[in-house]
Amino acid sequence: MNPTLYIIGGGPGDPELITLKAVKALKKADVILYDALVSEQLLVHARSDCKLIFVGKRKGKKELSQDEINELIVFYASRVPCVARLKGGDPFVFGRGHEELEYASRRGITVEVIPGISSVLAAPASAGVPLTKRGVNESFWVVTGTLSSGELSNDIALAAESSATVIVLMGISKLKKILSIFVKARSPFEPVAIIEHATLPTQRVISGTVYSMHEQIQEDQIRTPAIIVIGKVVDERYVAPPGLLEGEVVSALRSEIISKCI
Ligand code: SAH
Repeated sequence: MNPTLYIIGGGPGDPELITLKAVKALKKADVILYDALVSEQLLVHARSDCKLIFVGKRKGKKELSQDEINELIVFYASRVPCVARLKGGDPFVFGRGHEELEYASRRGITVEVIPGISSVLAAPASAGVPLTKRGVNESFWVVTGTLSSGELSNDIALAAESSATVIVLMGISKLKKILSIFVKARSPFEPVAIIEHATLPTQRVISGTVYSMHEQIQEDQIRTPAIIVIGKVVDERYVAPPGLLEGEVVSALRSEIISKCI
């Protein structure tokens, strides 16, 4: 049986980083409901008669609740042959994709999930930071900075106690708190990188130590979306030679400025 609903991971930002399977599903869809983190350039894959519905946060407009989004998905999936729910990164990584799957499948809708490249993997890779490197680290730990209550996750402190590389999503508004946890639990010299707008032409990488970053960076200087990577692998970062990639040059200069300030 053909699925009525595809829950699709649209990848981290660069519109070329979507899977072939996802593109095929977008071409089939009668309705596409898409999020704010999804590149609008992905919508070129939609049929000309496809209804495109933005369900993300937009400045000045009331944001739809998850319940409203679930209802919209079911509303359309009960009326048209094919609905695509297009989400940023991978739909099951801090994306609430599974809640949408449960809601729709309980109402008799056939669902297929199409995985996407998560920013968890894409951001470090596109910044030249290996998430694992033989002899440097043994694991990585992915954690949200912000719980649904708005509080800082307790798992950040637990992760800081481990020797794992720690990747924090949704952490920028709590950057100072997060860095100070690592200064105490690890060392002031623990390497950290912040990767803004990963895989996009506006990508920027700011790197330093948890202490230098804590002292010199204000949360409002960081452009979101951004992820934080903490651990020794950050020192392994490959920076492209000047002239190759503009974003990389800017970030290299930026880290030079930061290291001069220490
Ligand atoms: N499902 C998504 C994550 C959604 S949570 C995924 O798999 O990537 C939203 C968080 O993801 C943001 O707060 C940010 O920390 C991270 N993020 C998403 N896209 C990003 C990008 N292009 N660059 C940096 N961080 C990104």
